[in-house]
Amino acid sequence: KYILAIESSCDDTSAAVLCNTKVLSNVVATQEIHKQYGGVVPELASRAHQQNIVPVVHQALAKANIDKKQLSAIAFTRGPGLMGSLLVGTSFAKSLALGLDIPLIEVNHMEAHILAHFIEDDAQTTPEFPFLAMTISGGHTQIVKVTDHFNMEVLGETLDDAVGEAFDKSAKLMGLPYPGGPLIDKYAKLGDATAFSFPKPKVDGLNFSFSGLKTSILYFLQRESQKNSDFVAENINDICASVQYTILEILMEKLQMAVDQTGITRIAIGGGVAANSGIRGRLRDAEENLGWQTFIPKFEYCTDNAAMIGIVGYLKFNKGEFTQQNIAAKARYAIGS
Ligand code: ATP
Ligand code: FE
Repeated sequence: KYILAIESSCDDTSAAVLCNTKVLSNVVATQEIHKQYGGVVPELASRAHQQNIVPVVHQALAKANIDKKQLSAIAFTRGPGLMGSLLVGTSFAKSLALGLDIPLIEVNHMEAHILAHFIEDDAQTTPEFPFLAMTISGGHTQIVKVTDHFNMEVLGETLDDAVGEAFDKSAKLMGLPYPGGPLIDKYAKLGDATAFSFPKPKVDGLNFSFSGLKTSILYFLQRESQKNSDFVAENINDICASVQYTILEILMEKLQMAVDQTGITRIAIGGGVAANSGIRGRLRDAEENLGWQTFIPKFEYCTDNAAMIGIVGYLKFNKGEFTQQNIAAKARYAIGS
């Protein structure tokens, strides 16, 4: 089966073609326009999707060397995400499916971040059920018990900011451009993680909180900059390493708690922050020291991409789970709903 997948939930326009579980093409157009505003501007994102979607879909088909007449179905991101952005992909997918007279398949973006592990690729292995998935992205931070492709239970999630936001907002406080997550990762590699310490939030159970960390970083930077106006520039590596260390400690503590509660030691991560080299290292350590089996998606399947939408499309196609033309985009769309 050939599935064309479309992803437009936030600020990346992406299209992919899959042949069953294999990715033939996965094209991502990243919107540079938001950089100057220090964050995603929804209205601009929606307009950029409109400009990008036709060329991106054309490129995906061309790279896969597939004619649109060969497609078996169109999968698209229904939500969660920015409404204006979702509308572009949803409308485009609906029209194309109607025009080609092939089935339409709606996909939950967060389930896709988890099911990206089922893409067949030499560079990644697929977890067996049941496993624990930790979704760490720009809008979400969740620990999910996955007993089947479509049987997922959220065990805990963030009460305020997502971990990606914690990275990006901390970076912004240091004067780094958006999105700052990858830059913190880069500078952290050169710094000392024990140089500065930040308090960890006290949150019961498997829930997370990141807004307090952001505030303590703000006060810390203000205080130090008053003493030395070049503090940030002179210590950027150490600050990044310390901030990243604190964030990773929070994530690993909750993972350990989830393992203790469920007895499940297969851990899969997904979402943009799964691209972070620090979390990748910590999970590899856990393999050696704690006997966990850990699963980390290939880099390009971590941040937003249509290939992950395509694999869910394929899995739903096999179950005969198609959707009707009257389907509407959903800005808030919980996992497993
Ligand atoms: P959601 O998936 O919750 O709807 P989103 O789609 O906007 O949110 P993703 O594209 O999955 O989010 O992830 C983007 C986030 O990942 C950004 O916050 C970005 O800073 C972060 N990120 C990407 N690479 C890294 C990295 N190497 N280290 C830390 N954070 C990173
Ligand atoms: Fe995402």
